[in-house]
Amino acid sequence: MLKRVLKTYIIFIILLKNLFIANSLLIFDKVPIQRRMNKLWSNIIMIEASKVTFPSTTETVCPVCDYEFYIEKLRGKRVNAGEIDDELRRQYVPMKEYGKVYPLVYPVVVCPDCLYATYGYDFNKIKPKQKIEIEETQETRRKYIDVMFGEELDFEDRRTLKHGIASYVLAMNCYSYMPADMAPTFKRGLSALRAAWLLDTLTKEDPENEKKYAYLRDTFYLKAEHYYAKSIIFEQKGKERLEMVENLGPDTDNDYQYDGVKYISSVLSYKLSFLDPDLESRIQKYTSLKSTMGRLFGFGRSSKEKPGPILEKAKELYDSLQQSIKELEESMQ
Ligand SMILES: [Zn+2]
Repeated sequence: MLKRVLKTYIIFIILLKNLFIANSLLIFDKVPIQRRMNKLWSNIIMIEASKVTFPSTTETVCPVCDYEFYIEKLRGKRVNAGEIDDELRRQYVPMKEYGKVYPLVYPVVVCPDCLYATYGYDFNKIKPKQKIEIEETQETRRKYIDVMFGEELDFEDRRTLKHGIASYVLAMNCYSYMPADMAPTFKRGLSALRAAWLLDTLTKEDPENEKKYAYLRDTFYLKAEHYYAKSIIFEQKGKERLEMVENLGPDTDNDYQYDGVKYISSVLSYKLSFLDPDLESRIQKYTSLKSTMGRLFGFGRSSKEKPGPILEKAKELYDSLQQSIKELEESMQ
């Protein structure tokens, strides 16, 4: 009899224990399960809603705040490549099926939680010192973006032109904390240039706010000129080497390497030279830029090894500089 009671008691205890464990699991797992379901659901929406992009199959963990998120990627063949403009920016012809697609919106990875942002290949290279600085400055980044657009941008939403612009602005801020071996000056210049490009597109997409975005575009062009010029000086001094940078762009389709960096620096300097009221100093600047372009397109020597469009663009800039020097000299006589 006692044996039977003891057996029933033991079974009851085991059942109770199992019930307790099951309950605990349910309670403690409730939050992560809910979070995972939300993420899963948002991903399903993202996939269903877009023929243009898809979320990465694996989660990315932010090395600054440990937040887990999915990177939005552009599907292949969603645009037709058009002309390359004088800033080596590829123009894209929209496809009837997909509408306007901007490949430049996607290269910067942004943590939706702390707004840590870098190019994909740099995202996990952050060191402890920079991690603390980036963590401490997240509110500043958030406020800057809120003020810039007059609205909050959620980086877990599907990306728009505004997300693309914001991603480069955030990257500019984050690279300001990065060490010299990551060539942060160049990456700030490249990000400023791409932000200016996308802001220019936004002036056309959002004509009601054209003035505001045109002002921002010009501001970022000035920043781009500043950082490009500085990065060339740093490269020449061996302070920030560009050879280690994965892609010197400036656009996503071609890497024009160091020639491209010199060309962009020159073309920006030329375009913004109207800000210099001193005509003699402008002539000096043009003369120096002209000789840089002359060397770049292989003036008087073979230049077969240089990538195609850059030779043509450098030659065009050379001719424009020559013409501007002539006009300025004539106006001063
Ligand atoms: Zn983060």
